[in-house]
Amino acid sequence: MTKPVFSKPFTQQEAIPEAGIARAVEIMKTGRLHRYNLLPDEAGEAAALEIEYAKWQGADYCIACTSGGYAIQLGLRVCGVKPGDKVLANAYTLAPVPGAIHNVGGVPVLVDIDESYHIDCDDLDAKAAASGAKYLLLSYMRGHIPDMDKLLAVCAKYDLCLIEDCAHTMGAKWRGVRSGNFGKVAAFSTQTYKHMNSGEGGFLTTNDAELAARAVVSSGSYMLYGRHGAIPAEDVFQKVRLHAPNYSGRMDHMRAAILRSQLPVLEDNLERWNQLYDRLHAAFSSMAGVVIPARKQEEFYVGSSIQFRAEGLATKAVPQFVAACAKRGVELKWFGDDEPKAFTSRYDSWRYIDDIPVLPTTLRVLEKTLDMRVPLTFTIDDCDMIASIIEDEIQTFLPA
Ligand SMILES: *Cc1c(COP(=O)(O)O)cnc(C)c1O
Repeated sequence: MTKPVFSKPFTQQEAIPEAGIARAVEIMKTGRLHRYNLLPDEAGEAAALEIEYAKWQGADYCIACTSGGYAIQLGLRVCGVKPGDKVLANAYTLAPVPGAIHNVGGVPVLVDIDESYHIDCDDLDAKAAASGAKYLLLSYMRGHIPDMDKLLAVCAKYDLCLIEDCAHTMGAKWRGVRSGNFGKVAAFSTQTYKHMNSGEGGFLTTNDAELAARAVVSSGSYMLYGRHGAIPAEDVFQKVRLHAPNYSGRMDHMRAAILRSQLPVLEDNLERWNQLYDRLHAAFSSMAGVVIPARKQEEFYVGSSIQFRAEGLATKAVPQFVAACAKRGVELKWFGDDEPKAFTSRYDSWRYIDDIPVLPTTLRVLEKTLDMRVPLTFTIDDCDMIASIIEDEIQTFLPA
């Protein structure tokens, strides 16, 4: 008997809403793609997007830019990270996070995680004390929000400036407050695999007027910052305009149009992601050989991907299990691989960092961690089929 094979791609996103396509075409016809290329009475798509996103996010100020990684970098800079400054960061994250620290000349101080993929607040406390670092770049990797009460207490204890990487938590909340509203600045990505899709793109949000003004000028506004959307008053710009270097990284009108059309359906999409995620989570929770951490009650997550551990398998059987699933059309990524593949990597592969620490829990947890995208082009039936294939295949590798 041939075994069923899942046939949908794991990287297929939904189409851009018709309104966004129509608007993008209109903009192309005008030829005015650059965000500062406006008619005298025109507000512009990029500025409109910034106003709408700031409102949705609940932030005073928003700067749309070229990528999530760029937003992190800009966030670190406007918060004052200087070459040689230490920046604490959870070790379970994606390569653009340590890359952004490196880009601004900072020195990453990697912090261990716990069994549930969160930054380990006790290790954070210890590393903050030992390193004297004044910055924490918190990455909500794969949408896992740590105990923010505990985390903020550690930040207060050491007077850490918190920069939030919300690439996987756009729309997620802790005790009803959206991620990105806990620190000095927050960075979001609108790269294709995140919660909004403009191919490439990002946002920086903050409630701090001076940081916002510096971020606008540094994002490459020349002296046209007045054409931005959610920005502070002119007197704030007067203070910073000649002191903020131009690190070009602007959003253009085309991408802004594509994103504006997605904002009205974002809330619905988050719910749709969670319906798929919850179905998978329930299936993994009762599967032999699999461990999947429960989510915290205070957390409103967005399940755009799912992580579980093949705890019942020997480590050497994990890649065999991944290959067997792939044969049946189910694409799992292994975080325990020595070789970084596609969107996975273990912190010890970032060799440009001096003194890479040994982080025992991160290594142990990632050794068996598998990661799966959950695109909105999947249905509940697809989730059931995927779960049954995984269950089927893991059984063949479990020790008798
Ligand atoms: C995608 C991602 C980023 C960076 O976003 P880009 O837009 O690709 O630069 C940062 N952090 C995490 C955790 C990400 O997954």
